[in-house]
Amino acid sequence: MKIFEYQATGLFKKYGIPVTEGILCSSAGEVEAKIPDDGKSRVVKAQVYSGGRGKAGGVKVVTGKEATVEAAGQILGMKIKDFVVEKILITEAVTIEKEYYVGMVNDRNTRSVILMVSTEGGVDIEEVAALSPSKIFRTAVDPVVGLMDWQARSAALKLFSEPDLLRQASGILSALYRLFRDTDSTLTEINPLVLTSGKKIVAVDGKMNFDDNALYRQPGILAMRETTDTEALEIEAEGKGLSYIKLNGTIGCIVNGAGLAMATMDMIKLYGGEPANFLDIGGSSNPQKVIDAMDLLIRDKNVKTVLINIFGGITRCDDVALGLIAALKKIQLAIPVVVRLSGTNAAEGLQIIRDYGLQPVTSMREAAKKAIELSKTKS
Ligand code: GDP
Ligand code: MN
Repeated sequence: MKIFEYQATGLFKKYGIPVTEGILCSSAGEVEAKIPDDGKSRVVKAQVYSGGRGKAGGVKVVTGKEATVEAAGQILGMKIKDFVVEKILITEAVTIEKEYYVGMVNDRNTRSVILMVSTEGGVDIEEVAALSPSKIFRTAVDPVVGLMDWQARSAALKLFSEPDLLRQASGILSALYRLFRDTDSTLTEINPLVLTSGKKIVAVDGKMNFDDNALYRQPGILAMRETTDTEALEIEAEGKGLSYIKLNGTIGCIVNGAGLAMATMDMIKLYGGEPANFLDIGGSSNPQKVIDAMDLLIRDKNVKTVLINIFGGITRCDDVALGLIAALKKIQLAIPVVVRLSGTNAAEGLQIIRDYGLQPVTSMREAAKKAIELSKTKS
């Protein structure tokens, strides 16, 4: 799970990390009402689940109320990497002397938390990692003992040498580690952490990701989840025991097992089609799951054909066929369905499909080709 910058910096503040104070707005009118006419410089920042907002024009440093309202109008509604900007954060601007990078991630290989710091802040850290990896200092933190004070100090020493700045930076690193651990974060990043002209170290950006499997014990984090329509569907599917991931194509796929889902998507792509989703009904024999899956699928208006590809193991093909027919009776489907069943009780399943008046196919290749053909003829 991800959160927005304003939420991440809100957590930073709770942990005593200095941040630039901000006001969240979702319309130009709100900016007009909330921002004082004091001639001060401010930063207008798009709140989207994506970095690189600066480069995309989603971060603007402005002076005075009029310019703030104008920048807000430009940024609201803007599209940054497929995300439409619905909220902006307006922060006080600081005068930046230098930008740094600070981050931590879980590392499975070393079973530790890797703390990373770099003097090359503000820019894309992946680029720094690729072009000049020596400019990123890394240290492994044993999660059993936590970030030791000496470790925080030696990392801070890679960025600063003055005693006062060292004190500030190591305090920030220690607090950031506590936050990372307390919230079951998988990635926490400040880019840039800045040194201001007033010799203060401040976080002017924040990014945090969390372990979805730990959300059950993180009610505070879970409450920050803001879902898009797509994510809402994915969460609804999860509640029904289905794995659903929306993609951008036109062929809706109902399959059992993640491996078969991948293979089905590969097959569709091989013959020039695009899958509309990844929908795995899992390994059970419950007809209700097929009904639920069909119901979810057709809510995606891009779906032009449904491809049902089942390999019966524990799942029985006749149960899937019954579920499918129950779903078809319940939902008035305006798009074609291609069914391929193979494995346990396939003969019985295929007979049920035929009795209903559908013509099933037996090979996966044939199924993919037919689904693509039908998705193209139907507009
Ligand atoms: P990102 O591009 O999505 O990572 O957005 P950031 O929040 O990191 O902002 C991008 C850049 O805007 C930063 O690297 C800074 O150079 C600049 N910036 C952000 N806040 C301030 C500020 O308060 N003052 C000044 N002068 N520049 C800022
Ligand atoms: Mn940034």
